[in-house]
Amino acid sequence: MSVNVSMAMIPAAVSEFMRGPHRLLIDGKWVPAASHRTFPTHNPADGSLLSDIAAAEAVDVDLAVTAARRAFDDGPWSRMAPAARAKLIWKLADALEAQAEEFAFIETLDNGKPLNDAKVVDLPHSIEVLRYFAGWCTKLNGESISISNPGTWHAYTTREPVGVVGSITPWNAPLMMAVSKIAPALAAGCTVVLKPAEQTPLTALKLGQLILDVGFPDGVVNILTGFGETAGAAMTAHPGIDKVTFTGSTEVGRLIVRAAAADFKRVTLELGGKTPVIVFPDADIDRAIEGAARSIFSNAGQICNAGSRLYAHRDVFERLVDGVSRRASEIRVGAGLAASTQMGPVVSQEQLERISGFIASGQNQGAEIRAGGGRIGSEGYFIQPTVLTGTRPDMDVVQQEIFGPVLCAMSYDEADLDRIAREANATNYGLGAVLWTQNLSTAHKMARKLKAGTVRVNGGGLDPALPFGGFKQSGWGRELGREGIEGYTELKSVAMAL
Ligand code: ADP
Repeated sequence: MSVNVSMAMIPAAVSEFMRGPHRLLIDGKWVPAASHRTFPTHNPADGSLLSDIAAAEAVDVDLAVTAARRAFDDGPWSRMAPAARAKLIWKLADALEAQAEEFAFIETLDNGKPLNDAKVVDLPHSIEVLRYFAGWCTKLNGESISISNPGTWHAYTTREPVGVVGSITPWNAPLMMAVSKIAPALAAGCTVVLKPAEQTPLTALKLGQLILDVGFPDGVVNILTGFGETAGAAMTAHPGIDKVTFTGSTEVGRLIVRAAAADFKRVTLELGGKTPVIVFPDADIDRAIEGAARSIFSNAGQICNAGSRLYAHRDVFERLVDGVSRRASEIRVGAGLAASTQMGPVVSQEQLERISGFIASGQNQGAEIRAGGGRIGSEGYFIQPTVLTGTRPDMDVVQQEIFGPVLCAMSYDEADLDRIAREANATNYGLGAVLWTQNLSTAHKMARKLKAGTVRVNGGGLDPALPFGGFKQSGWGRELGREGIEGYTELKSVAMAL
């Protein structure tokens, strides 16, 4: 980690926001938790206390659900003209854009990511997601259906909002995750109870301020900060919630499905991933090196779709591993606020230990460290970008999601697409896959063979129009795109005998 770096100056408005108080947004008002309990949120760059946050529990969940229920059942939101809903969501996007700088600082302080990443990735994407779904408000239609029953019929479908949505989000991209859940829900006409991750609650609370400022009716969006086992579990068990949408670990996803089964809540899940990056010998190797490094080291590898398994043809393997390892050793790791930082700390001591444990287990099972492998310093949660070789398909580091900057590099011998696909598909996850090849036929054939919700060829990036989600244990349903908003609706068929 570099020392004596210049730190970005924290804007006065951010310092003022950080001081708080940080309460719960219920029915258009900021209120303390009924228990008056709070919990601390920390800066991952140095472990220091940032703010105290209200800790919601079951009784607060009940109040928030009652407010969201009222706003949906009797209130103005579900009955508002679609164009009026669109206007408010667009206004929220404008307000977010106007305060993007402040949001980026808050995200960096709370999550650790480089300020520049927050500015060029998290904020623009969040703003675009709001605008993209604002556009859908006026385009959410059913269709007319030709039916063959005897007689003369007029039949059609409509899409109705599913109701009150409970959204539970993770800490790796806190604002982006919150917006990716709120925007389509609101566009569909649903009301929302949002619970951000306890590690990174601040940008969701700041978003709550904007939601009030731009004039959303009371109760349409409620924000509950708190822990998963208390607030989160109370949400998934609450009979007033019609749908739960969750991004997080596969283990918690399983708990949510169990809880939601009681009353068959609708459930969308974005869970873990173990994305393979497959490099064919005809690829543009320099670009593949750059892309593979970006895919695993961006956001310190804390991305469900991080390219954590590299499969390269033996003819290009050494060049790739050398190139990615060189990139790994050059990445400037440091505090997110430092101007030179390219990779920040991981979010918490717990994650630091988890990632270190995986690296150690890889070594114990025979993997070799080609780059990184250790913690940096003793303050904050910094870990070196790491490349492991000599990894085998049965190792934990190859099978399990590490959620850190750790790449497992493996080679294959022949360009037998079925074999490569079999190996790439040999995990419980199926979120993404990345291919590097200049051969169209290889790209299309592989895209068909991979069991992954998203296949990217020769590049990456998120787009609000592209559905995102997983096969297998990577989740249920899709976010973003048309499917993203349709997931917040119930489909109704109407048939009339004329
Ligand atoms: P991670 O393991 O990466 O911290 P989690 O899946 O535990 O991710 O957390 C993602 C979100 O799920 C957080 O908002 C967390 O509070 C919430 N959560 C954790 N446990 C539960 C639970 N039992 N029920 C509902 N939500 C939970």
